[in-house]
This record gives sequence, structure tokens and C-alpha cells, in this order.
Amino acid sequence: MGSYDIAVIGGGPGGYVAAIRAAQLGFRTVLFEADRVGGLCLNWGCIPSKALLRNADVLTLVRNASAWGIRVDGVEADYGAAVDRSRKVVDQIVSGVEGLLRDNGVDVVSARARIAAPGVVEGGGERFEARWIVVATGGTPRQLPGVEVDGDVVITSREALARRNVPERAVIIGAGPIGVEFAHLWSTYGADVTLVELLDTVLPQEDPDVSRALRRSFEARGIRCLTSARVGAVERSPSGARVTVEHAGARTTLDADTVLVAVGFVANTAGLGLEELGVATDRGFIAIDDAMATNVPGVLAIGDVTGKLMLAHVAMQQGVAAVERLAGRSVPPLDYVQMPRATFCQPQVGSVGYTEPAARAAGFEVRTGRFPFTALGKAIAVGETEGFVKVVADAETKQVLGIHVIGHDVVDLLGEASLAVLLEVTTEELGFAVRVHPTLPEAVKEAALAVDGEAIHIARRRAQRAAATGGGSA
Ligand code: NAD
Repeated sequence: MGSYDIAVIGGGPGGYVAAIRAAQLGFRTVLFEADRVGGLCLNWGCIPSKALLRNADVLTLVRNASAWGIRVDGVEADYGAAVDRSRKVVDQIVSGVEGLLRDNGVDVVSARARIAAPGVVEGGGERFEARWIVVATGGTPRQLPGVEVDGDVVITSREALARRNVPERAVIIGAGPIGVEFAHLWSTYGADVTLVELLDTVLPQEDPDVSRALRRSFEARGIRCLTSARVGAVERSPSGARVTVEHAGARTTLDADTVLVAVGFVANTAGLGLEELGVATDRGFIAIDDAMATNVPGVLAIGDVTGKLMLAHVAMQQGVAAVERLAGRSVPPLDYVQMPRATFCQPQVGSVGYTEPAARAAGFEVRTGRFPFTALGKAIAVGETEGFVKVVADAETKQVLGIHVIGHDVVDLLGEASLAVLLEVTTEELGFAVRVHPTLPEAVKEAALAVDGEAIHIARRRAQRAAATGGGSA
């Protein structure tokens, strides 16, 4: 029986980062992973999808080359080659993570593990002792009752990332990040795409101004967006599937060769021995406190399995915070409102902090400022003027409560946006800090100034109107 300080179950972004940090802190650490390290994110999520989305960018650029005075004839897009590239990217990063684990002295056991008793993990037919056990087993696409995923016509993101062909006609159920990213990717490669979303907008977790702008952009490209729409049935048909949707008081049928179900994730908690141990759950997710501890002493949980905010970077931060606390470091509790969120369609969508309605609901008196990329030198120079930056601030203290971006390649702006929200900067500070000219971050500065109608590169009438109405008119 091996004896460790920390046993981590699950080698996704939460688990492998927790294991590496634990080893750095001097803990003897073992990591159990049934598949390849990297988890869903690296193998079948964030990373391969970003590789494919990059292909969509390149294809769009080449198709529009004539706008730059560059003649390109006979453009042919080989989607299979894009998928092959995405798998190579995955392999490279997985072997990088394997190397990091080795380099840090983390023992990796390639087996499914379960907790046999407090302080005891079983995996690969062996028992391991560990003072602390960190459950980082992630999540799996949620199934829709009555809609059978057959992996052929009705698929999840897992199959969508593996297949080497683009659907001709796709219905995507759910307009969250996964639905929206595939809508953009497949539509760029020529598919006829319909998004079906239960709530009244696409990307419903985002600020309504941003969701509206994305919808307009998608519809202008021919992506249909049925919102406030409920899927009744998905039946197999000669051409693939027939999807019945209740929408605007009527029943519509949509024919498709591919139906992508992207309606969220559920936690991977089965087979871990959690019930026997008495680990408490909340709506299927493992319940944790600020130290990522469960109700059972010595058992912690991080990442998607906790359902706090199902994003890889959140899992990583939970993993680091959990083991640093075990090492006796003082770590502030994680504030999930302050975690940046990004969707990598084009235009990209990103946010950190409160949306405007969420800030009002939390009791703030709100002022907003907006700055459009049509007014930004860098955006005009590179020919990508769609979208805007929106700053949500407390009217009284001027503290920045939220920053929302939509536009071409804008999610990198979330770096400074996260810092601004974390450090509780004011709109005056955000507007005072100097950005390089010409760059996209100038839009953040201008949006902060626009909260008080003081943005430089917006016509005066527009700025005055913004100030009079509490911003947001750009
Ligand atoms: P999600 O929960 O973010 O979105 C699912 C969407 O489906 C929601 O808008 C929901 O209202 C809708 N929905 C639910 N039931 C429905 C129904 N019956 N009919 C129609 N619509 C329905 O989940 P997701 O997009 O599947 O992503 C899964 C997880 O992975 C999420 O936690 C997400 O944040 C994460 N993820 C993040 C990124 C990113 O950050 N870029 C990308 C992919 C996935």
C-alpha cells in the first residue's frame, strides 16, 4: 500500500494543477486518472475546440482576402484536416502535462479510483493511503429527458469534436457556450445551423446587451436562433432526425442530419464511494466550503464536480487554493462572481463580475459605459469593428462591478478586466490607466470614461446622451 499526503482523483485541469501545486508545496502526491491526463477540457473540450475555432478564423480571413486586396482563388476547406490538427494540439499539450507531473514528482496511477474509506483510495487493484483526498472527477454532458444520444445523429460535444465532417443541417439544442461555439464553427464551414434555446436569449448568462448583439451577429450570418423554445421530441427520420420545437405558441419541426445536445453538464460522482462515505451533495454536485472541504473530514472536492462555476480556470484556482490551505497558507475565499467567463465564437464574448441586471438585483445603483469598436483605431485598422466594451459600475462609489466584451478576438481583454474587478478599482482609475495606442485595451479605458460621459473618441452628442441616461448608449 502506497502512502501519500494527498491523493487526487481525476487528472483534468482541476486535478492535475492541484497535484502539481501540492507537490511543489512538499506534499507526497498521487494522481489517479482512468483516461489521459488533461480531462475533458484538454482532451475533448476547451483545447480541441479552440484549435478548430482557429481554423474557422483562418477560413474566414482567406475567404475575405479580397477586402485586403489579396486575390485567393479556389478556396477549399478540408474540415477533416482541421480535426486532425486539433488532435495533434491535444497530444502535444497532454504530453506537456504528463511531463510536468513527472517533473514535479507526482505519482500518476492510470486507473479509475474510488474512496474505500476515509484516508484510503483503491485504484488499479491496489490500496493507497492518503491524509487528504481531493475529488476532481469533473462533469459529463447532461442528457435531455426523451432525447436519446445515439452518438451518430444525436450527439454531444464529445462526438462533435471527434468527427471529421461538418453537418449539412444541424440543430443545436442549448445556446450556452458549447452550442454557440459549434454554431459559429459549423456555420463558418458551410452548415445550415439552428440554435434552440429554452431561455429568451442566446448566452443567457451574459449581459443582455451582449447577448442581443451576438444574436444579431449570428442572424446576419444566417444562423437561426429560436429562443424561448422548448424541444418536444427528437425522432429519427430518413434524412437524420426530425426535431419538434414549441416556439412562440406554435409547434415547428426542424429536419437535420445532426442534432447537438448542449444543455449543460452533470457531475461525475458515480462509483467513487461517496454515498457510502456520506459525502453531502447539492443538486447532484459535491457540496464544499470555502476551503473546498466536504462534510467528511479529509475529503475535498474541486472543479466541475462541485458545480460552482464549471470552467477550467475556476477548477485550477480551486485546486491551488485547496492545497495551499492544506499547507497552512492563508488564501482568501474564492469569489465566483469575480471569475472571468469567455465564449470563443466570433465575435468573441467575455465577461467578469456582475451583469447590469445582476448588479441591480444585488442592490447596487448602477451606471454603465459603453465603447464601440467602430470608434477604435486598432479595430478599424485590422478591419474588425463589430462589438463593444461595457463597464458596469456602482453609481455612488464608482467601483467597477463588471466588464463585458463582445468583438473579434476580445476575450484577452479579460486579463485586465479581472484584475480591475478583483482590485475593486473605480471607473476613474480604469479610465486613468494608460494603454498602448493603438490596441484593443483602449476600448476598456474609453468604456470606463464613458460611464461619466467622458470618453474621448465618441461624438459629444452621444457621450452627453450616455451621461444623461446613465451610460450605455454607444
Ligand atoms: P450551459 O449550461 O452553459 O448552457 C446550456 C444552455 O442550454 C443554457 O442556455 C440553457 O438555458 C439551455 N437549455 C437547457 N435545457 C434546454 C432545453 N431543454 N432546450 C433548449 N435549451 C436548453 O452548458 P453548455 O454550453 O452545454 O456547457 C457545459 C459547461 O461547459 C458549462 O458549464 C460551460 O460554462 C462550460 N463550457 C465553457 C466554455 C467556455 O467557457 N468557452 C465552452 C464550453 C463549455
